[in-house]
Amino acid sequence: MIVAIDGPAGSGKTTIAKLLSKKLDISYLDTGATYRALTLKALSEGVDLKDVSCLFDCANNLNLKLKGQKTYLDDKDVSSEIRTPLIDKNISVIVAYPQVREVMVSLQRKIAKDGDYVVEGRDITTVVFPNAEFKFYLDADQSTRAERRFNELKAKGINIDFEEMEKDLNKRDEADKKREVGALKLSADATYIDTSKMTIEEVADAMLTYIKKGGR
Ligand code: C5P
Repeated sequence: MIVAIDGPAGSGKTTIAKLLSKKLDISYLDTGATYRALTLKALSEGVDLKDVSCLFDCANNLNLKLKGQKTYLDDKDVSSEIRTPLIDKNISVIVAYPQVREVMVSLQRKIAKDGDYVVEGRDITTVVFPNAEFKFYLDADQSTRAERRFNELKAKGINIDFEEMEKDLNKRDEADKKREVGALKLSADATYIDTSKMTIEEVADAMLTYIKKGGR
């Protein structure tokens, strides 16, 4: 069984996907982590982000392992390192290359192909698992999303100017919605949930109710 979840940054996807996987007692796949790890690898190797063929090689040779909620790159736990403003600033260029996405999508499919998974990202309901049993699109208004992201970074001890962060978040969302391949969009058969005024538990419960009813 695949529960596919898409939505913009700060929509609550990650927190809710983790909680849902726990409640359903199935695995969890954060596809954003795969793109973040690739971005970290490219930056740490000094790869020119305009050099698609180099990035393609980098994606093909990525030594990435996802264990539970931890991300390992070259056997090192990079779970925190991949969620910094530096990665946020550089990731949009890399994820826009169709050749790179193709490699990452096939990696994501390989990870989840034989199991029951909650999978979250931007193109899960449309490209990665268009035949998923359950499809959701989580959203929230812009200021709520910016606040959530800011608090998330603050909780990790990362101090950043709110306005600069909000600007970067909006830029990343725009790029996610506008790219030619794997763009973030609401699939016609996905259930749309605006999480702005809901608690995490409320969102997870609404999704669980829907899943238990058998979905579409
Ligand atoms: O979900 P998260 O914010 O960690 O994702 C980081 C970035 O990775 C997103 O802004 C998006 O550009 C990219 N991404 C993507 N496709 C996915 C998941 C994430 O392009 N399936």
